[in-house]
Amino acid sequence: MERIYLDNAATTALDKEVLEAMLPYMTTYFGNPSSIYSYGRETRLAIETSRKTVARLLNAHPGEIFFTSGGTESNNTAISAAIHDLGCRHIISSPIEHHAVLHTVEHYGSGDVTLSFVKLLANGHVDLDDLEQQLASHEKRCLVTLMHANNEIGNLLDIDAVGNLCKKYNAIFHSDCVQTVGHYPLDLRKTPVHFVSGSGHKFHGPKGVGILYINDNVKIQPFIFGGAQERNMRAGTENVYGIVGFAKALEMAMNNFEKDSKYIQSLKTYMIEQLRKNVKCSTLNGDVEGRSLYTVLSTGLPKTEKSEMILFNLDINHICASGGSACTSGADQGSHVIHAINNNPNLVTVRFSFSKHNTKEEIDKVISKLQELI
Ligand code: PLP
Repeated sequence: MERIYLDNAATTALDKEVLEAMLPYMTTYFGNPSSIYSYGRETRLAIETSRKTVARLLNAHPGEIFFTSGGTESNNTAISAAIHDLGCRHIISSPIEHHAVLHTVEHYGSGDVTLSFVKLLANGHVDLDDLEQQLASHEKRCLVTLMHANNEIGNLLDIDAVGNLCKKYNAIFHSDCVQTVGHYPLDLRKTPVHFVSGSGHKFHGPKGVGILYINDNVKIQPFIFGGAQERNMRAGTENVYGIVGFAKALEMAMNNFEKDSKYIQSLKTYMIEQLRKNVKCSTLNGDVEGRSLYTVLSTGLPKTEKSEMILFNLDINHICASGGSACTSGADQGSHVIHAINNNPNLVTVRFSFSKHNTKEEIDKVISKLQELI
């Protein structure tokens, strides 16, 4: 039975070309990049070439790109460094961040470091007036950590506006760009941001590899101690094939951005139309037709005995979707994002997220299943 995979915000399928680029680094080129002989030089070259590729594609300096184990590590590192190395004593974040940010700011935002959340507008966007008021009211240096695109509802942040506010108040700005790196052409030289997190598996790259962009103007301490890898900042033998795969996936994503984003947006638009026409009781979460990620569509369905089982029943019918982020899929304990934007206990949330591999025919099948299942 063919499965329909509509959970691409959770993870994406590895591209064949990405796998092909990675394979030689699992077999022929197995040297430790720190070794001085030819085996080591081959893998060192692969890492540094990948770093240059990533830097070029994001318009950053290679020295600003650090390879990590993924978005979670990058988020943790940026937040911890802002507190420990850059003198931030107040954190401003939002209640709809991914847990990789939310749990980290909750951890650090206690004791002499304080934490506050920005207000959200009715459509789920960050209230920039409130952000400015908060920045202006703190004498202590602030860290602002706000995600570029929300993984559950798709809302896109005006990253330049937030960055400029941070500049005005001498705050450090970190943005979790896990849902936008590889999905939008970012120009980090022009974006007023100190830290950016990205993750390979969200754009058809491998899992367990990500990047942390650290702007040249901020100097932080090593985040993992040990050997001299990643210019003494992150010790440990590098994930060579992961890094090669990350760079290849980003290159493919950016080369095909125009075509793929247009196609994926057309799927999302089609699904919105079909939901409105055929699943009339459904509602949409977030600023779906405004500043919104083209890959994510979050829908609310009236809560009934049947709809409460929707994810389970979709799964039985070989349709993969989620209730929110990957960690809440399956068991619906309610999403903190949906609670924050729309505290309606009478709705069940289903997030559909698309990739270049999906088709309109798949959406038609999902719509007709939804009609049956709710
Ligand atoms: N931030 C966002 C917005 C995400 O969607 C995810 C993945 O679910 C993460 C962070 C975590 O990234 P990773 O799985 O690479 O640790």
